[in-house]
Amino acid sequence: DYFSESIKQAIRTVPDWPNPGVQFRDITTVLQDRTAFRKLIDAFVHRYHGQQIDAVAAVDARGFIIGSALAYELNAGLVLVRKKGKLPFDTLVEDYQLEYGTASVELHKDAFRQGDRVILVDDLIATGGTMMAASRLIRRIRAEIVEVAAMIDLPDLGGSQKLRDEGLAVYTVCS
Ligand code: IMP
Repeated sequence: DYFSESIKQAIRTVPDWPNPGVQFRDITTVLQDRTAFRKLIDAFVHRYHGQQIDAVAAVDARGFIIGSALAYELNAGLVLVRKKGKLPFDTLVEDYQLEYGTASVELHKDAFRQGDRVILVDDLIATGGTMMAASRLIRRIRAEIVEVAAMIDLPDLGGSQKLRDEGLAVYTVCS
């Protein structure tokens, strides 16, 4: 549609990075293109405009870029879901599996009020492990996840389906 085609064209696919066989979706080429960047943020704003959204929760680090602009436009707060060890106050932690090993995401305990309506945003959904762990953090604080949103879905990896199977609404701009 109007938003996704031109954004899709601005994504650069880098073969064999960071490992052989990986087709890395590089979004820096979207960010540095003023037209594509505006359309990207507008796609999310258009989707949530007029809904009551209390906060945008953004995933470290590329989710911060999208989440910040979106929160500003929706007049919502911005909450950072960070990699472990970066947040200074009392936190909750969730571990999740990577292809090799594990990773953790962390959230300040006072990041939301109970019942806050939240959009969870990142740049890309692959296996869905990152979004799943982030959504567990948000639910532990008893905030309400209105939708899980990403710029790119890699549907062959099954992550977005896994999130839907957990009862989460999922929106992606490009797949
Ligand atoms: P997942 O947890 O397997 O869904 O992986 C998603 C996370 O890994 C997101 O935080 C992405 O930023 C990052 N990621 C995985 N693959 C790519 C890619 O091809 N381009 C950009 N980020 C990626």
